[in-house]
Amino acid sequence: MDISAVGVIGCGLMGAGIAEVCARKGLDVVVREINQEALHAGLGRVRRSLDKGLERGKLSAEEHASALDRIRGTTELADFSDRDLVIEAAVENLAIKQSIFAELDDIVSDHAVLGTNTSSISITKIASATAHPERVIGTHFFNPVPVMPLIELVRGLATSDETFAAARGLGAVLDKQVVVSVKDAPGFIVNRLFIPYGLDAIRALEEGVATMEDFDTAMKLGMAHPMGPFTLMDFVGLDTVLFIADAMYEESKDTRYAAPPRLRQMVAAGWHGRKSGRGFYDYS
Ligand code: NAD
Repeated sequence: MDISAVGVIGCGLMGAGIAEVCARKGLDVVVREINQEALHAGLGRVRRSLDKGLERGKLSAEEHASALDRIRGTTELADFSDRDLVIEAAVENLAIKQSIFAELDDIVSDHAVLGTNTSSISITKIASATAHPERVIGTHFFNPVPVMPLIELVRGLATSDETFAAARGLGAVLDKQVVVSVKDAPGFIVNRLFIPYGLDAIRALEEGVATMEDFDTAMKLGMAHPMGPFTLMDFVGLDTVLFIADAMYEESKDTRYAAPPRLRQMVAAGWHGRKSGRGFYDYS
């Protein structure tokens, strides 16, 4: 199926990025937020990112203008009736995602594909809210979306081959590398490896194996990682790491995903990493 009209639900950090990359690749985009204020803020985020791209020479003045032209904001899901693909990037909450997907049932056409950008929730659970779970698939982008070249596709139990093929086609249109989690397993591919890695780094720090600076230096210089585990967790957001770990633990009861008390305390203290000015490192 050819995708030319895309709907994006949520224009926060990820939704804004997804809307931007789709518009930059020539797709017609409608983005939905919960109210005018959130919509205004979200579209402002898209514009600032496109402005930055223009300043840095990543896109021409014409490309900048036509990308902006291709994005329309709305607060009404009903505006998605002509969309080939809808990507949900609302908050990470199962009940909210399920209510969005249930509502979409009565709005989108029969051929529409429904993607979710969830980082940790089972695709099958989200899809269970619709009458057509075969058209639901995980389309997991990475932050910042315009920069990170990966989309992780995740097949739910009922995802059809047609849905999967359409999502793969989106990867090609957006010029992103696609990897496929053929099972709807906790953490999919990236978080399945990243979460236990980060949690183990915290446990090893607590055991006094080395300083966090030395853990970070070791993984950078010894393993050629662009950043060490503590810098990376600060970058992702410690609240996000904890949220995903808890969701994976809840789903699997596997102790590899059980968050160490230190992480929970840091999040309770408001030390959410780079974005809050303090995490494992001090950014103030
Ligand atoms: P965010 O809080 O920045 O944005 C979420 C937006 O969704 C908000 O602007 C909110 O107003 C809006 N929203 C909530 N309910 C809505 C509804 N019913 N209809 C339309 N809009 C609605 O969150 P985010 O970081 O962009 O994350 C969005 C999704 O992407 C989550 O599922 C998250 O787990 C996932 N994700 C996040 C990252 C990341 O690094 N932040 C990476 C990959 C995946």
